[in-house]
Parts: sequence; C-alpha cells; structure tokens
Amino acid sequence: MDLTGKKVKIKAKGKIFEGIVMPSVTGSLVLKLDNGYNVGFFDYEILEIEEIEKIESKTSLTKNPELPDVKIISTGGTIASKVDYKTGAVTSQFTAEEIVGDVPELAEICNVDAELLYNILSENMNVKHWIELARNVYSALKKYEGVIITHGTDTMAYTASALAFMISTPKPIVLVGAQRSSDRPSSDAAMNLICSALTATSDLGEVVVVMHATTSDDYCYIHRGVKVRKCHTSRRDAFKSINFIPLGKIDYMKRKIEWFVQDRFKRGERELELKDKMEEKVVLIKFYPGLKPDILEYYYGKGYKGFVLEGTGLGHVSTEWIDVIKKISEDCLIIMTSQCIWGRVCDRVYDTGRYLLKAGVIEGEDMLPEVALVKLMWLLGNYDLEEAKKYVKENLVGEITQSTKYWESMLSFFNSKNK
Ligand code: GLU
Repeated sequence: MDLTGKKVKIKAKGKIFEGIVMPSVTGSLVLKLDNGYNVGFFDYEILEIEEIEKIESKTSLTKNPELPDVKIISTGGTIASKVDYKTGAVTSQFTAEEIVGDVPELAEICNVDAELLYNILSENMNVKHWIELARNVYSALKKYEGVIITHGTDTMAYTASALAFMISTPKPIVLVGAQRSSDRPSSDAAMNLICSALTATSDLGEVVVVMHATTSDDYCYIHRGVKVRKCHTSRRDAFKSINFIPLGKIDYMKRKIEWFVQDRFKRGERELELKDKMEEKVVLIKFYPGLKPDILEYYYGKGYKGFVLEGTGLGHVSTEWIDVIKKISEDCLIIMTSQCIWGRVCDRVYDTGRYLLKAGVIEGEDMLPEVALVKLMWLLGNYDLEEAKKYVKENLVGEITQSTKYWESMLSFFNSKNK
C-alpha cells in the first residue's frame, strides 16, 4: 500500500512516531514529524504501521466567557496550505478549524468560531467572491466582536479594499495571510494569526491587513486595507503601507498593540451597513510609451463604464490619447493614477496633464491604482455617474490621504530606528 502523503502512526525503534509519509527514492520509509524533522525507517524496523484517517484538531473550542468571540473565515492561500508530499506542490488543504488547531494560543485571546468559505489561491478570487465574502462578514459582524479572514497574499489587498468600500463596520475586519506554509520551520502563519486575533479584539473599527513587519518574528504591522500593497514576492515582510504609515504595530512577545495613527476608525464609531453592488465593467490599464489609445476604444465598445489609468509620473498618458478620452468621458469615468506608487497625481503641472483634465480625466490623488479600480467598481455599482464622479475624489474610507502632512510623518517613521 502506498502511504505517501498519508498521516500515519508507526511503532519502531522502541517508540511511537506520528507524521506524514514522504516520497522516498531509497526504498526506506521517511516520516515528516509534526515538529518538522524527518525520520527514516528500514522495513525491518517497523513493527506496526497504522494510517490515521482524520488529522485530529488539537483545539478545544470550549468557550471562555471572559473572552470576546471572533469569527475566522478561511478563503485559502498559503496560510491554509501544506506541502503535498506526493507532488511536492503547495496546496490548500486545511479548514479554518484545523488552522486554529495548529495555533492554540488563539484560545488565550478570544473564543474562535471557524468557517471554511473557500479553499482557493487568491489569484482565483473575483468580484463575485468579494461580494459573497462581504455578505458573510456582514452577518458575522452582527454576532462577533471581530472577524479574521485568512487569505492568499497575492490579492489580499484587493479584497481588503473591496470589503472596506462595501462594509461600513463598527468592528475590526482583519485580513491575514502567510508567505510560508505552516509546515515550514520559517512559517509566518502562526505569528500573523496571533497578531490578527489581537487586532480583531482591539478598539479598531475598520478593514486592515495584519502581516509580519520585519523578517524576524518580533512584530506585525496593522496596515489600513486601502493603503497597503504586497511589495515582495517571497519575504515575510512583503506588505507595506503606501502613501501612509501603518496604523500600528503588534509586539508578538508582549501581545501588545502600539497605535501610530490616532485618526483611525474606532470600534463602535460607525453603524454596520452593507452596500455590496459592484460594477464589473471597470478596467485598469497600465500605460507604457507607445501604447495606442485603441485599447480604450476596445473596452468602451465592450460596454465598460470605468477606466483607471496607471499613468507615468504625476499622471500622464501620451497626448495621442486625448481625443479618445474626450469622446468616451461623457458617459464613462476615467481616473488617473500613477506608476510611481509613492506620491500624488497632479495633472495641473504639465501641458499633457492639463489637456487630460480638460478631456475629462479625474485625478486619483494618492490612491494606489488597484484601490482606485475597486473604488470605481463600487461607486459605479451603487451610485449614478454624476454621484460617482463626485465621490471619486472624496476620501471615503481612508483611501485618499487628505494632506501631505503624512509625508513628513512617513519619512520620520521610515527613518526612525524604533519602527
Ligand atoms: N498565490 C497564492 C495566493 O495568493 C499563494 C500565495 C500566498 O498565499 O501567499 O493565494
């Protein structure tokens, strides 16, 4: 019987071993123990071997009446993954309850209820998932003190933005992921989850992303959901607040939050409300030198109503685009953002910018292009064109930093030794 990839109990060498059987080329059996170490057995050493059908959860979900109730909604990604020893691939295979079983410290912070909503890698998320997730989170917020969403890191910031626009929340909604799966010694999953539980039970009232702040296991940052981007493919500190500072940091050892931004949504400040319509005919176009405006006409012809342009510098595309923009901006919304990432769009400095504004382009201020995309989907889903046009430039949930005063605090924050 091929036991590769199965969880087994083995009686051998005078002991009982439990672990997952790994593929072996030598013919001996190699077992990956729960602590991450591998042990090899020759056939003659194995006295008994038993397949353990169900991986038992170590969690006791008995409720502690002193602690707040938190809901964990699992959607997949690396945080819910382990290595598939048959194929060598990392696949999503754990339910949220199993995640809690792996991180028993959570039970010292809150009473956890867990639900597996999806088990997908986040590149497979789409607008329909966001809407279903928003409805799910909205219902959970009526009952729980906070909600944690475990999510693949690749598109976590898009989902965070979608939830931030769709749900006016009086309680914390925390998105958390991991860059390394939980069966790797360098996994960030447990610490990120513990920090997300501390955030979900805090006095916050907004959508945030909680991830490692550094490559060590010292603290996590709490990033505003509409101001964060995954900036590295593999490092554990991949998430950075853009054009803003993190709302706060969580000391993992002390289990303590230090807030950096006082001007944040607090628990109980807003009424719970759901506006879950999204217009899917919105597109994000990255301009590059030589790109023809035909691309706008193509999408316009397909019925697209919203365009986010990722322009150069202060917010430019070639002047070749102006006529087409003029034509389509009468019944569409066109937002200009910048490829620079850092800084604010300003189309009043150079001629190109001024022509673009005249042609109907709206400056996306200091919004990240992907945040502008999600905001436009939400605005066009819930408001008519004129109202949507007005709201684009308004700061609704922290997506636009009103003044450049944050630039200075950002500089000192990033230069300080004590970040
Ligand atoms: N690409 C996958 C995802 O975003 C795995 C990466 C991860 O979870 O960090 O879901």
